[in-house]
Amino acid sequence: MIEVPVLVVGGGPVGLALACELGLRGTGCILAEQRPGINEHPRANVVASRTMEHFHRWGIADRVARAGLPLDYPVDIVFTTRLARREIFRFSFPSYEDCRSPSAAKLSQLPDLLQSRYFKTSVAQSDLEPVLLDFARSFDAVDVRFGWRLDDFTQDDDGVTARLTQSVTEESLLVRCRYLVACDGGRSEVRARLGVSLDGEADLGQFVGVHFRSPDFMRRHALGRATLYWAMNRESPGVFIAINGRDTFTFQRSVAPGESVSSIRPLAAIQAAFDEPIECEILSVQPWKAHQLVAERLRIGRVFIAGDAAHLFVPTGGFGMNTGIGDAVDLGWKLAAVIDGWGGAALLDSYHAERHPVAVRNTTEAADNYRKIRPAFARAQDAEAPDPLGASARSEIARGIAEGAKHFAATGIHLGYRYESSPVCIPDGTPSPPDDPQVYVPTSRPGSRAPHVMLDDGRSILDLFGAGFTLIRTGEGDADRDEALFVNAGRELGIPVSFQALGDAQVARLYERRFVLVRPDGHVAWRGDQPPVDVAALLRRVAGHDEAGATPPNPETAL
Ligand SMILES: Cc1cc2nc3c(=O)[nH]c(=O)nc-3n(C[C@H](O)[C@H](O)[C@H](O)COP(=O)(O)OP(=O)(O)OC[C@H]3O[C@@H](n4cnc5c(N)ncnc54)[C@H](O)[C@@H]3O)c2cc1C
Repeated sequence: MIEVPVLVVGGGPVGLALACELGLRGTGCILAEQRPGINEHPRANVVASRTMEHFHRWGIADRVARAGLPLDYPVDIVFTTRLARREIFRFSFPSYEDCRSPSAAKLSQLPDLLQSRYFKTSVAQSDLEPVLLDFARSFDAVDVRFGWRLDDFTQDDDGVTARLTQSVTEESLLVRCRYLVACDGGRSEVRARLGVSLDGEADLGQFVGVHFRSPDFMRRHALGRATLYWAMNRESPGVFIAINGRDTFTFQRSVAPGESVSSIRPLAAIQAAFDEPIECEILSVQPWKAHQLVAERLRIGRVFIAGDAAHLFVPTGGFGMNTGIGDAVDLGWKLAAVIDGWGGAALLDSYHAERHPVAVRNTTEAADNYRKIRPAFARAQDAEAPDPLGASARSEIARGIAEGAKHFAATGIHLGYRYESSPVCIPDGTPSPPDDPQVYVPTSRPGSRAPHVMLDDGRSILDLFGAGFTLIRTGEGDADRDEALFVNAGRELGIPVSFQALGDAQVARLYERRFVLVRPDGHVAWRGDQPPVDVAALLRRVAGHDEAGATPPNPETAL
């Protein structure tokens, strides 16, 4: 029997991200993945701004970006009837390079670039996972085991005993861990075994994903470089996704009601959507279904559920993996804190309280995007009719797509999620800013992502956040006294706290209060214009040592 603090089940992007977050914190884990290696069939391609901020914190953002589309590749999204026929509409978005050093013109076109150093980074999941895997393997604390599946587990008051089986040799291994995290995907057996049901709507749509190579593809249309090429026609509707920016793509062919998956011929489907007999080498084919489902509970005793095991999306918007990596970040520091001894029980309870509402919010938004784009496909046949019917259908489709712009630029979704009813974030009584999928409103309100702002030295304020809590203090006053107040209280409790006094007027304006306590995951735990009377009580609360409500809601005034 092997003993390890955490067993991560599943080596998709979420399990790998969790192993990275634990590895960074020196927390021992085994990651067991039943496949012999990475899943080479690409699925996700949008790595959202918030996810890139986490990768930046880990020091791998550039590696991730370089694994994806060429850095100068525009993240455009083009809508056509068929690729070799008509362009109906286009969203033009800047390349990774342009986002990293945006011109004044780009900033005025896309103010979202002021809210993060990242916008949309286009990296196929099959190219992202090897970067995460390499990074996870760089930590002594992380033991990645491909080819091992979880077959069985039981939990008791002190831990979880799990049986892993080597997929080829059938060798068996018992693992005793303090916590098990199920990152085992949409068909999660861990979730099923725990009897956790899924709430929401299943089977919103069915698709066949075809991964192919075609040197012809970029030569045989006149649309230029784009990340997504939508084909809105009745015969073979779907969307092409650029994978390497040269000759590999996926085609996500929508399966119509009454049509069977087995009747879809991958090459014929691609050629029909293209309207040219382009040459293709089919690399892999995977059917999949779109859902709007969330697990009713994300924690059962010592077992946590994360990623697709916890929430199933329609990919419209590109939220599934990004939300799952958000789960991994939220859970990673909390598990590490509890295992290291400075985190309390409420920290682990806060995982469900914080992430379940985000899962509901994001799956709902993705499904809304899906429902809004369906009518465009319903008009597809008319769009190919001779004018004037064709022209009128195409302009109606274009109008509908333009109105649904939130689907393609969801900065509010990626940066604006907030932990409203968390037992470890201390509300200050201020109202919640609007939660608009497209528009992110920067705020230091407790539970929110601490806002990004560029400092004079060229760094983002996010770069100042440490591995523990960070107290950001703006304005005048005795910085040494304030630092001693927070850092010494943390030291006495064993809770890591660092201190940053910033004189920058922009930070003071954006951070709204003189004292803002930022958690290890970059969310605000507490804020106030004065230090709390009892700093130790505040730190105990945000580190999960008090049950929710055991301390008064606003330590600034009450402690
Ligand atoms: C066409 C398409 C496009 C998408 N685009 C985007 C996008 O642009 N952006 C985005 O954010 N999301 C996107 N998604 C969603 C994204 O692919 C998923 O959300 C993501 O794969 C979830 O990661 P995961 O690690 O939770 O699960 P998975 O990737 O499903 O990984 C789970 C792993 O667990 C392993 N496993 C299962 N059972 C066991 C066991 N008993 N023992 C050991 N291992 C086990 C499996 O083998 C698997 O490798 C897209 C999805 C599709 C289908």
